[in-house]
Amino acid sequence: MNKTLLLVDDEEAVLHSLVRLFRNQGYQLLTAVSGAEALRLLENNEVQVILSDQRMPEMTGVEMLTVVRERYPEIIRMVLSGYSDISAISDAVNKGNIYKFLFKPWDNDLLLENIRDAFERFDLSLKGEQFSRIYENTVEGIIITDQNAVIQAVNPAFSSITGYEPHEVIGKTPALLKSDNHDQVFYREMWSTLGEQGKWTGEIWNKRKNGEIYPEWLNITVVRDAQGRVSQYVALFSDITQHKRSEELLRHQAYHDALTGLPNRLLFGENLEQALNQAQRANHGVAVMLMDIDHFKYVNDTFGHDYGDKLLVMVAQRLRSMIRKGDTLARMGGDEFTLLLPAVREPDEIARVAEKIFKEFSSPFIIEKNDFTVTASIGVSTYPQDGGTPETLLKNADSAMYQAKEEGRNSCAYFTPAMNEKMKERVEIENELRHAIDAGELEVYFQPKQRLHDGALVGMEALVRWNHPQRGLVMPGKFIAIAENTGLIIPLGWFVLEEACRRTAAWNRAGADLRVAVNLSAYQFRDKGMLEVITRVLEQSGLDPHQLEIELTESLVMHDPEANIEQLVMLKRLGIAIAIDDFGTGYSSLSYLKRLPVDTLKIDQSFIRGVNSDAHDAELVRAIISMAHSFKLEVVAEGVETPEQREFLLNQGCDVTQGYLYARPMPTDAFEAFLVAASAIEGSAHG
Ligand code: C2E
Ligand code: MG
Ligand code: MG
Repeated sequence: MNKTLLLVDDEEAVLHSLVRLFRNQGYQLLTAVSGAEALRLLENNEVQVILSDQRMPEMTGVEMLTVVRERYPEIIRMVLSGYSDISAISDAVNKGNIYKFLFKPWDNDLLLENIRDAFERFDLSLKGEQFSRIYENTVEGIIITDQNAVIQAVNPAFSSITGYEPHEVIGKTPALLKSDNHDQVFYREMWSTLGEQGKWTGEIWNKRKNGEIYPEWLNITVVRDAQGRVSQYVALFSDITQHKRSEELLRHQAYHDALTGLPNRLLFGENLEQALNQAQRANHGVAVMLMDIDHFKYVNDTFGHDYGDKLLVMVAQRLRSMIRKGDTLARMGGDEFTLLLPAVREPDEIARVAEKIFKEFSSPFIIEKNDFTVTASIGVSTYPQDGGTPETLLKNADSAMYQAKEEGRNSCAYFTPAMNEKMKERVEIENELRHAIDAGELEVYFQPKQRLHDGALVGMEALVRWNHPQRGLVMPGKFIAIAENTGLIIPLGWFVLEEACRRTAAWNRAGADLRVAVNLSAYQFRDKGMLEVITRVLEQSGLDPHQLEIELTESLVMHDPEANIEQLVMLKRLGIAIAIDDFGTGYSSLSYLKRLPVDTLKIDQSFIRGVNSDAHDAELVRAIISMAHSFKLEVVAEGVETPEQREFLLNQGCDVTQGYLYARPMPTDAFEAFLVAASAIEGSAHG
């Protein structure tokens, strides 16, 4: 900082000798020959020290310095004068208008020393002022104690943080702020650091007057006197409650799923890593159970994300209620949950947990008064058998989970190395399927349906096939689910519909009277353009709407019957027949069917298979047929393979059969030949 000294004297000679004296002392010098000139100079210059003559015309030195004191209180004011002025000047000194006065003639050394002092004093008072401004206004609490840690002073921020007024703490020690969060060792170490290093910095939990415990960032400095003895301690601290809170919040957010509050993938990964380390030392197993809600995408897409979210939250709650201490239940994203069993000692444990999970899912979830029956598929991988890193274990649990889905969902599969092959195939199929539609690799097969009582051919079901350039003929079981998960089911499904309608219209023009059944995926059914597409396809193909039947799976229709009725009614208005496919595999109550605009029930082949061997199956099929008839529904039996099954169905009054016994699904040419053989059409009527 600049040191500027203003010299004021009406005698030029005096000014000159003063300038000569101070010239090489590192000061910037200003001179004035009158009080008025001095005041003018002060307006444009920063001056720290003024040395002024007393006796000057118009304005005396003391008069001028009194004005200076008012305007620039920080400037150090000094008078250099003769003896005769003593009384006026001592009065000014006493009033504080001037700092010091010195006599003329002066002693050079003494004068130099006094001016040096004056500048030092300026610095000190400036610092003092800055300090007190900080002390009063800072948001940091300040405590000043004596050498025995007895509080001498605290600032306003101290009071606002701790709740204590100065008079409540002065004379006491900071121990009154202690919380129980730290033990003796903590404080002992703090004091020994203070002793050795002269300061201590760290986080500490203290207690406010109202009893609240809060974290503060504390800085203690030891102040020593000239002899090196401790004279004071100064503590500076800030309340970091807010900071801590947001830190914790951030940490929580980074490691948890916002929707369910469960640990997320990141935390699961860390816990798994830790579990693996421990397992290695303790020589026990670790299991990763990955579960995926079956058909969740369907719920989400059909009923909206709000619904989906609610379901996920409820699923999380149920799962959470069954986990044991030490297990980690996480949501990995979407409808995927993982459970980490960190210490598995016997394989049975895993099976028991899986059973518990299935049990949790066995009662329906109620969302906005709707019952949802939800199932889950679980894939399990274990350490050390199936992998030693979190990545491998998760990947393998995922493969196993897909296996579980393929096994008909609502099941649990343990990883085997062969699954990775399958997984690879799945991913490949997914990629290849994208091209298959455009490349014309999809083909529609037709499987005839026969009326039981007179053996007449009444229609057929359109079933998609994939002529894969390398894999050969791929069955829908291998790719429909993948198509549904990727959205490819929409173009695929409409292709089948178009093809089925076009061919059937041509055969019917050629003399046949066939009704073609086309499977509609849930994703097509909820597609906003569904009615438009169907209307257009019917028009373009020229097929009579009464000769089209749409097959919907039971689980689709019964999931939320109320929501589906409208769509079903619209289809019916077009004249289209509606069949419920795979009937018996869902959970629907038969009585509900009465309220739906449905024409046909297709009994699932799993029940037909057992009609001659399993009394339960026979009874169920019998019940379905009689119930359906009482609702005026036509009954189709699927998968009829033996004459005995056909016989049974005939006796029960079943209307139509479809199965290998009568005919297999066939490509167009073969089906056409079948029609010719059945005299449904005459030869060569290519569509
Ligand atoms: P689905 O609609 O229940 O079709 C009947 C399935 O049973 C067909 O299998 C058929 O080939 C088979 N089947 C017929 N008779 C017998 C029999 O006597 N014994 C046995 N064991 N099976 C018989 P496919 O063609 O493999 O189709 C499987 C499923 O794929 C179909 O079941 C249907 O849900 C789905 N699917 C097929 N084509 C399409 C399509 O174009 N769109 C949609 N969304 N799904 C389709
Ligand atoms: Mg079908
Ligand atoms: Mg079926």
